[in-house]
Amino acid sequence: MTETAPGAQRFIPPQADTLDDLRAAATGCQGCELYRAASQTVFGRGDATARVVFVGEQPGDMEDQKGLPFVGPAGRLLRKAVDDAGLDPGHIYLTNAVKHFRFELRGKRRIHQTPDRVHITACRPWLVAEFAQLHPEVVVVLGATAAKALLGPAFRVTRQRGELLPWPAAAQHPEDFQRVPVDSTGRTADAPPAQLLATIHPSAVLRADNQDIAYDGLVADLTIVARALSR
Ligand code: SF4
Repeated sequence: MTETAPGAQRFIPPQADTLDDLRAAATGCQGCELYRAASQTVFGRGDATARVVFVGEQPGDMEDQKGLPFVGPAGRLLRKAVDDAGLDPGHIYLTNAVKHFRFELRGKRRIHQTPDRVHITACRPWLVAEFAQLHPEVVVVLGATAAKALLGPAFRVTRQRGELLPWPAAAQHPEDFQRVPVDSTGRTADAPPAQLLATIHPSAVLRADNQDIAYDGLVADLTIVARALSR
């Protein structure tokens, strides 16, 4: 296991001021060793004006091949859950805490490996840079890895799932995610209140003994998000 990594910060151009700028720069990231074995960087996708930002763990095998997040089986399940919860799929942004696929080879199969803390820490600057371009009303944290990246190691999804928390106040380092919006006259405007909700990763539904119960739980959590948006 790698104990340290240089981190992504030096690959983020200081002048990058759009998600497209960041996405282009991330293709060359060597902030940890995961870029070596993976096919490509899988950056977030969606609109900068998205009302809901989903943060997952890392790209899977199919995402790694296609270069897009949430296009594999877990992504399909998440899209169904988004529909069933009544969220508008046109108003979401999808990204991951770690932007390269971590796996081990068994024969010809690439088996998912959970990112270590060193990978989460190394990749966090991309997440911070993405959030600097986004202004969601709700941030949805999918699973333990995303929770570690945003909320710190003490946060337990199993204990606090489905709970609306203040964003970015609930983040491990809220100042990283604090936006200081400036209005058209150049004055600092009040930041609109935002919230965060943690739930299980859709891949946990696929692994569950009772997938129906696990799926219903995911939809119930996302329904809380849908209600928060309609207030
Ligand atoms: S996982 Fe993140 S920090 Fe590591 S090389 Fe990929 S983009 Fe860079």
